[in-house]
Amino acid sequence: MSHQKPGPTTRVLNADHDPADGNSVSPPLHQSVNFSARDMAHLNEIAVPQGDRYYTRRGNPTSSRLARAICELEGAESGLITASGMGAISTAILSLVGAGNHVIGQRNHYVGITELLEKILPSFAIETTRVDQRSVQAFANAIRPNTKLIILETPVNPLMHITDLPAVASLARSRGITTLCDSTFATPLNQQPIALGCDIVMHSVTKYIGGHHDLLAGALVGTNALIQRIWDRSLTLGAIGAPFNSWLGLRGIRTLELRMERHNKNGLALAEFLEAHAAVAKVFYPGLASHPQHELAKRQMSGFGGLLTFELKGGHDAAVSFIGKLQLVSFASSLGGVSSVAVQPAALFGEQLSKEVVEEQGITPGLVRFAAGIENTADLLADVQQALES
Ligand SMILES: *Cc1c(COP(=O)(O)O)cnc(C)c1O
Repeated sequence: MSHQKPGPTTRVLNADHDPADGNSVSPPLHQSVNFSARDMAHLNEIAVPQGDRYYTRRGNPTSSRLARAICELEGAESGLITASGMGAISTAILSLVGAGNHVIGQRNHYVGITELLEKILPSFAIETTRVDQRSVQAFANAIRPNTKLIILETPVNPLMHITDLPAVASLARSRGITTLCDSTFATPLNQQPIALGCDIVMHSVTKYIGGHHDLLAGALVGTNALIQRIWDRSLTLGAIGAPFNSWLGLRGIRTLELRMERHNKNGLALAEFLEAHAAVAKVFYPGLASHPQHELAKRQMSGFGGLLTFELKGGHDAAVSFIGKLQLVSFASSLGGVSSVAVQPAALFGEQLSKEVVEEQGITPGLVRFAAGIENTADLLADVQQALES
């Protein structure tokens, strides 16, 4: 036997054991807010920082275990499970910056992060700049003396732009600026931002890690020192993950590697099929050679995921008709679960984002966002074909 590093699923399963669980093979659910102490001295012992057997807002054994599994895959020292992906990013920002600081983000982000950068942070006297993520120079130009944090997200929805993580992370490090990368769409299987130089990785566990369209949770992983700072503040901000959702997250992460293999396969198969189809004007998928940043994507990702966007030649009406004719695919907004979903970004984001931001992000009426699930590849292709051609 060679001494290669064990694979991701093996490491997740190994991170699963806790002597306190006795002989339970499946991780137990600690659906308890309160944990008792033997006496005053013991109470002081369990009320330690990042302790998980005192009061669930300060930590919970089931959530700790999910954090450990994600740290294992991301190569991180420490982690925190939050109530949602937005709970993770807002807790991180409010822990790391304050009034008078400057935060750099991207022009394209998950809609809630755009809202934080555009509206909420400025209302707390935190300066923000959003830059074109495809240009490392744009990040360099945006740095000010008071820049404390750079928020990255790659790949990004809907046009699947990529951020050069090693380049931006090393730029930030040389200027003493913390980097936080939302790696939700890549998952810890397709991309590991910490190995590429980032300080903190954030996930919406709601998506691929959960993987079954049935839980809401977020995660932050990074160095002990950074996670300790965030943990301290999360005690008061309170966007803490629920034990039951962490338990579902543990169920999800055990099959993440298997599911991502199929998501990656289905994503690429659909992208290639659509790119060759006469009804399709353009496909946005980092795994296609036609993607303008394909070489960069190949350098920092080991798979390209299940998410793709495409523009139909028939515009808005063709997009509505296509989505209406799909039989295996739900018309729904959230993604990352076992079954496929499709939506028009223009309909999804039209209400939340200003007209200028919608235009700036390249969201056109004929755009379809397709999140391939883990259905059998031939079935999914056949459904997409009939919806395009019937
Ligand atoms: C869904 C999502 C979020 C927000 O996560 P919630 O769990 O819905 O709060 C943040 N970033 C990305 C990339 C997402 O897809």
